[in-house]
Amino acid sequence: MASLALTLGLFVSTTLGWLWYVDQREAQARRSALDLLWLEQTVQQKLLLNERMLGNWSHDIVPPSDAVLAEFFSRSATLVKDNPGLLAVDVLDKDGKRIGGVPQYRERPTQLPPVNDPLIAAALTTAHTLGKPAYSHVIEQGAPLWVLVVPIVDDAGHQGSVLAVYDLDRLLEQEVPWWFVQRYDLSLVDRNNKRLSPRDGVLPDASSELHKLSFGTDDSGLALWASPHAHGQSQALLAWLSLAVLAFALLIMWLLRVLYRWLRERQAAQQALSESREQLYAVLAGLEAAVSVSAVSDGRLLFRNRHHEALFTLQPEGDCCLVQWLNPPLDAQSRSAEVLDLASTRWYHVERRATQWVDGSTVLLDIATDVTVQREASNTARERDELLQHTARLASLAEFASGIAHELNQPLAAIANYSAVADSHLSNDPPHLGKVADAVTRMGEEAHRAGQIIQSLRSFIQKRAVEMRTCCVMDLLKEPLALLEPLAQRLQVQIKVQSSSELARIDCDAVMIEQVLFNLMRNALEAVAGRGAAPGQDAVTVHIAEDGDSVTVCVADRGSGIADPARLFQAFYTTKSEGMGLGLAICRTVVESHGGRLWAEPNPGGGARLCFRLPASVVMAA
Ligand code: ADP
Repeated sequence: MASLALTLGLFVSTTLGWLWYVDQREAQARRSALDLLWLEQTVQQKLLLNERMLGNWSHDIVPPSDAVLAEFFSRSATLVKDNPGLLAVDVLDKDGKRIGGVPQYRERPTQLPPVNDPLIAAALTTAHTLGKPAYSHVIEQGAPLWVLVVPIVDDAGHQGSVLAVYDLDRLLEQEVPWWFVQRYDLSLVDRNNKRLSPRDGVLPDASSELHKLSFGTDDSGLALWASPHAHGQSQALLAWLSLAVLAFALLIMWLLRVLYRWLRERQAAQQALSESREQLYAVLAGLEAAVSVSAVSDGRLLFRNRHHEALFTLQPEGDCCLVQWLNPPLDAQSRSAEVLDLASTRWYHVERRATQWVDGSTVLLDIATDVTVQREASNTARERDELLQHTARLASLAEFASGIAHELNQPLAAIANYSAVADSHLSNDPPHLGKVADAVTRMGEEAHRAGQIIQSLRSFIQKRAVEMRTCCVMDLLKEPLALLEPLAQRLQVQIKVQSSSELARIDCDAVMIEQVLFNLMRNALEAVAGRGAAPGQDAVTVHIAEDGDSVTVCVADRGSGIADPARLFQAFYTTKSEGMGLGLAICRTVVESHGGRLWAEPNPGGGARLCFRLPASVVMAA
């Protein structure tokens, strides 16, 4: 576009410049012609006036007498004085002998031609033959001289002649005004193109602009050549114009070169683009998934591989995005989704990527993988997992039941005790109703605790689907702590909780993780109890720490430590007389099914530490 504009600019400016120059030249030529015409008429009129005056006066000197001649000479003197180009006026008798004139002299001055000069004689003959004034040829005597012969004629015939001698140099000097000299180089030339006036200098050369004009009489052979002085301003303008044209031409050449390079680069980029596109299509064609590439701007299908062709039929409009055939459709913002194709009742995992081509346009890359088989397999695996966990819970039921029976024994015994106490207070006369009421309240509390124990047993053995949700670890601790409270009280041990991150959250099945925490804390309490020594304040401590993307929970105790670390997580490994050896094995399964890890390590300072680590929840706390 730029180079086109420049070319146009160059063409227009050159054309306008040229038209202007031609117009200037024509105007100059017209003005020169008018100037010369004016000069010619001025000189002609002057010569004609002189000629007429001399012709009129010459009639008065026939017959010649001293008085009329004196009068004639006086007038002629005035004429010579008024005309610097007129050198002399001579009066000749009919024999051609000078009888007087202006200037008066004894001896004819050398700048004047002799009256018997052959050229004057020829002019005399012509004048007398024709009976009217005639001019001689130019007589070169120092200055170019020109003689006008006016015949003196009366009724008797030829009586003599009047000669007027003109110095052409001075004549031109007198008649050509200053402004004319400023504009033109002026030359008077004879019939042989010889320059007569001014004598110094040279004739203008033929290549320059030249105007020619005949001068004097028709047969004089004289001409005025005028060549205008070079017009400085227009010449400078012409030079500038030429320079500008040259600069423009160079600029256009440079621009064309830049354009050419740019086109080459663009061509190479397009080539690279189409090559890379073809390479990509070749890779996509080989994929086992159904792949389509479509333009974001208009939804046009750019490419699809054979799997895509086999699975999906194009809509009649021809434009395509894979997701148009899926239900529900994947909107432009979605990155991936698992969708059900209702027609085939198959599941597809669809990945959508908005990608930029090398040319800057954006395309949608849709990759659909048939995940029906995996989905069914994962369903089966999940069901199997749930069954396994249910079996595991049943397996530990006996162990748990004996613990629960033990736990229930306590509130039941307490209820029996309070019942006996109430009974004895009622049998008093009068009955101690206040104490009875107190005993009944205690009985109610113990019954509530027994109910809680049974409730937790029910939730443990119930077969239930995994329910993943985001939980705060501190909240998960509440239920197991409440369940273990009676045991802790009996052992006179306080379970201490230390958390460096109160808000640490994990995505889990809350019931299962609560069971893990319950098992670990119960083991810790039992390990401390096994020591038989008075437990200290930090006998059992739960540490919660969050580091970046994971949460670690450790249950530390001051017991005797792990007896056989290698067998710790083996099912049915137990060192307890009433133990089943299933608790830790189940805990490990649960933690690993949540994508975490469970391990045991010595507690620095004595005892054991059972820890598990789970991925921290990415869901922000509300
Ligand atoms: P059980 O408690 O029925 O024995 P577990 O699987 O919970 O079954 O524990 C297996 C064994 O691991 C226990 O018998 C015990 O020897 C050992 N153990 C578990 N926790 C601790 C602990 N905190 N300190 C020492 N030993 C432990």
